[in-house]
Amino acid sequence: MRKLLIVGNWKMNLNASEASLLVHRLGQAVKHHSDIEVVLAPSHLTLQPLSLQIDRRKFRLAAQNAYFRDEGAYTGEVSFNMLRELVHYCLIGHSERRHIFHEDLPMVQAKMKSAIRNGITPILCVGETAQERADGETRQVLHDQLSTALANLTAKEVGEVIIAYEPVWAIGSGRLPVPADVKTVAGYTRSLVGDVFGEGTGHSLRILYGGSVTPEVITSFLDGGDVDGFLVGGASLNYQEFADIIDNAYTWQRSKGE
Ligand code: PEP
Repeated sequence: MRKLLIVGNWKMNLNASEASLLVHRLGQAVKHHSDIEVVLAPSHLTLQPLSLQIDRRKFRLAAQNAYFRDEGAYTGEVSFNMLRELVHYCLIGHSERRHIFHEDLPMVQAKMKSAIRNGITPILCVGETAQERADGETRQVLHDQLSTALANLTAKEVGEVIIAYEPVWAIGSGRLPVPADVKTVAGYTRSLVGDVFGEGTGHSLRILYGGSVTPEVITSFLDGGDVDGFLVGGASLNYQEFADIIDNAYTWQRSKGE
């Protein structure tokens, strides 16, 4: 069975004391559910102190980004190698990295390889823009993003990767796809991965939905979207909303007897 995973992406928000306060409040509001994995992705700056503060039974940490070289003259960058003792996960290919910082497919591919080499599990973000969707290119975009990112990996390595489907037009916009469309994407992703790396690998992949997630929509995407959790941006900065997302996922899981 695929374990539910809920990831909070804090983006470029919260200084050290604000981040510490949020973790404190989350610690009180979020119950420990052994069947749900909860991951926080704060800024690089706060990873070190938060790694000492978090209740490790409840939370794991993710980085929001890292550079693919292990060390060297790359001013301003942080490597996967530097993060390996602090985080379990790293977001790779988030649309803000692709679109604002012009990270192309080969860069995302190099980051995937580097994360895995350093023992960090990638949360690979994929998704189409509004224009690509309007042009009927969603499947092609996903094909290109997935096949390039996974190209240099073994089936065993791909089995550990998390895929986050985040339509670019849904991020931070309050607009949501219908769950059936997410289900179509999840099915396509599993079959694409299954064709190259084996059916079992495709089947066991954990696929998240991300984009304007709130507590109210959790159940419909778990029921109708065939997803294994969520990548949450804005709502993860509010401890009550984030705790409600986790609670709603837990209630859904119990109702299914899973
Ligand atoms: C994100 O940044 O990954 C995201 C999904 O943001 P939001 O939930 O705010 O749309």
